[in-house]
Amino acid sequence: MTTAEPLALIDHHVHGVVTGDLDRSAFEQLITEASGPPAPGTTMFDSQLGFTLRRWCAPMLDLESSAPAEDYLRRRADLGTAEVNRRLLTAAGVAQWLVDTGYQGDQLTTPEQLAQASGTPASHVVRLEAVAERVARAGTSAAGWAAMFAEELAIATARTSAVGYKSIVAYRYGFDFNPARPAPSDVTAAAGRLLRAIDASPSARLDDEVLLRHLIWTAIDIGRPLQFHVGFGDTDVRMHRSNPALLTDFLVATEPAGTPVMLLHCYPYHREAGYLAHVFSHVYMDMGAILNHVGARSAAVLAEALELTPFGKMLYSSDAFGLPELHYLGAIGFRHDIARVTGEFVADGAWTAADADRVAELIGSGNANRVYQLDRVDGP
Ligand SMILES: [Zn+2]
Repeated sequence: MTTAEPLALIDHHVHGVVTGDLDRSAFEQLITEASGPPAPGTTMFDSQLGFTLRRWCAPMLDLESSAPAEDYLRRRADLGTAEVNRRLLTAAGVAQWLVDTGYQGDQLTTPEQLAQASGTPASHVVRLEAVAERVARAGTSAAGWAAMFAEELAIATARTSAVGYKSIVAYRYGFDFNPARPAPSDVTAAAGRLLRAIDASPSARLDDEVLLRHLIWTAIDIGRPLQFHVGFGDTDVRMHRSNPALLTDFLVATEPAGTPVMLLHCYPYHREAGYLAHVFSHVYMDMGAILNHVGARSAAVLAEALELTPFGKMLYSSDAFGLPELHYLGAIGFRHDIARVTGEFVADGAWTAADADRVAELIGSGNANRVYQLDRVDGP
C-alpha cells in the first residue's frame, strides 16, 4: 500500500439508504436514535453528529464546509436524493458492504440497489427474528415451527448468498437470557404462544425468551458469523440489559463451537466488549455508528476500544442507516481516527509505523475478510 491510497474498508454492518425525498424533520430523525421529534426550540443538528455532518458533507454538495443546516438541506433538495446518494456513497470508497436487511428494509435500498448506487459490491446478512416471524405468519403448526424455521433460514441464506446472521435479542428481551440451548418441547410450547399472539394481533413481535434462544442456537450450529446488536440504540432497547458482559455464560457455552460472535456498536460498553473479545476466542467487536455520533470525540472513543481489544478481533462498520451521509462519514472518519490514534502511539515510540499500518489494515478489512470468509470461491 502506498500512502496515497485510502485505507481499504469492509463495512461489516450497514443498512441501505432512503431513495425518496426527505423534509427537514425526516432528515433530523435519521441523525438521532430518539424516537420523537427534537425538544421544543432545539434541533438535532446541534449535536456532535450534526456538526460533523455539516463539516465534512457540505463540501461534497459543493458548499463551504460547516455550511448552515438550512443551506445544506436546500442544496440537498436541489441536487436530488439520487445524486446525493451517488456522490456520498461513491466518495466513501468502501470495498464491500455487508448489509443488514432486517430493519425497515422495505423503505431502504436493497443490497443490490446499494451496490449499484455506490459502485461497491454488497452482501446480505440475514436477521434471524425477521425470518422467524415470517414463518410464524405463514401459518405453520406449533410442532412444525422449528423445522420450518430451519428450512426457511436455509432458503434465505442460499437465495441471498448470506455471509452471516444477526440477532436483535438485545431489543426483544435482553442479554440476561438463559444461556442454555432450549429443549425442543419448550420451543414447541413457545411457538404455540407466538402463533396465538399473531392470531390475536398480526403485528405481534417475537419477543419470547425461549424462541429467541432457539434462533441464536440455530445460528451457532450453522457456524457463520452471528452479529448481536449491543448497547447504543433507539428507545426500544433497555440499555442496562444490553451490556454484553451479561452474555458471559452464553459465550462460555458457545466457545467450543467456534462460531464467530460479532458484538456490534457496543457503546457505552465498548470496554466490556473489548474484554470479551480478549478472553473468548470466538468474540469480535466493532464501534459502529457511535464514531459518527460522538463526532469530534471519535478518536478518543476509538482509542478506548483499542485499549484491550486484540487487534485481530476488531472490525470496521458504519452502521449507517438511511442517509448516505452516514456511510460517508463512517468511512472517512474511521480512516482519519485510526491514523490519528495509532499515529500517536508511533510518535510516542510505543509502536512502529509498520505495525500501525498493519493494525489499520486488519481492522479496516483484513479481519472481516478472514472471519466472514469473503474470499471463498463459492461466495457472492
Ligand atoms: Zn444497524
